[in-house]
Amino acid sequence: MSNITIRKVRAILTAPVGINLIIVKVETSEPGLYGLGCATFAYREKAVKSIVEDYFAPLLHGRDAGDIEGLWQLMNNNSYWRNGPVTNNAISGVDMALWDIKGKLANMPVYDLLGGRSRPAAAVYRHADGKTLEEIAENVQKFREQKVQHIRIQWGGYGGKTDELNKPVGAPDGIYYDPKQYMRDTLKLFDYIRSHMGFEFELLHDTHERVTPVDAVRLAKELEPYKLFFLEDILSPEQGEWFKMVRSQCATPIANGELYNNPKEWDFLITNRLIDFIRVHISQIGGITPARKLAIFCEQFGIRTAWHGPGDVSPVGHAANIHLDLVCHNFGIQEWSGIRELSQEVFPGSPELRDGYVYANDRPGLGIDINEELAAKYPCKTEATRWTQTRIPDGTINTP
Ligand code: MG
Repeated sequence: MSNITIRKVRAILTAPVGINLIIVKVETSEPGLYGLGCATFAYREKAVKSIVEDYFAPLLHGRDAGDIEGLWQLMNNNSYWRNGPVTNNAISGVDMALWDIKGKLANMPVYDLLGGRSRPAAAVYRHADGKTLEEIAENVQKFREQKVQHIRIQWGGYGGKTDELNKPVGAPDGIYYDPKQYMRDTLKLFDYIRSHMGFEFELLHDTHERVTPVDAVRLAKELEPYKLFFLEDILSPEQGEWFKMVRSQCATPIANGELYNNPKEWDFLITNRLIDFIRVHISQIGGITPARKLAIFCEQFGIRTAWHGPGDVSPVGHAANIHLDLVCHNFGIQEWSGIRELSQEVFPGSPELRDGYVYANDRPGLGIDINEELAAKYPCKTEATRWTQTRIPDGTINTP
């Protein structure tokens, strides 16, 4: 019991670099004591704001800000139906903010509250892409010169580059790609990079669920000679049973999970040791509280963490990732898409990358703040999301 109660819960929407971010601010009965959490569901920002302000604010008002576990369970059960992405993000915003508050009260960084560090910084992987093989190799080289040891390579973005496609008359508007061409090109890419740059550094790749399940099995097998650090999202959450086929046929390390919302999407993958890295998007599963439990669960089965770290995680969310990375014994790698200068101004105290490692600061709580005046200058845009309108050549919509 902290004797400090929740006074105000609100969502702050901001898009400093053009990506919608949702931050939850929880204010307390103690003047000046507040916490911040990431609730970023970039493509449904108004829905998350409504859950936070119309439902959670009255539910939480006057309750003890120290009761994180009890309040997490209250928020999770209060809507009766559970485990959806909108509600999970709203829960995450409050959950992280309560950890931030507890850290400030204890005068400790969140990593200390969670048990203390296993390591001083988190190793990251960066993204190298390009239109040609030579351009990708140059981008890989730039990261290597920055002492980044783990590099994800893609040729032309998710689903690959697209040559002229033969589409039927009346094919709807969308982002088109050819899964078969993507697979052929990906093999050429790995062959090129390994034959020109060697094996003395780690390569990763994100399939983004762009192939059929049996092609996922084939791709994992065909990539095996290139010794990947991991192959990511070859199967959607709906097709997780296919991982048994992948596992029985090759030793390409498998990372999955940025789409997961519900523990039933991951528990059988862990207990059957069908993946090597769990890479959930922490706000999508409800914040630090469930992520710490998930990491401990994975540790028992030899599975490491690789939390999702794209541009549509706020700097507050990145800070939460790093605090967990520092603590979890079974940390594997941290995806790092970078935090641009303007975002750092909006979010003072953002984690910092140096020589292939990202560092948290040692301030109490999550160690990060928001400049609300500056944030207000960059409003979110609500529009129909285009990049998720992914289609294969005959016009069929595909998971993005
Ligand atoms: Mg991914």
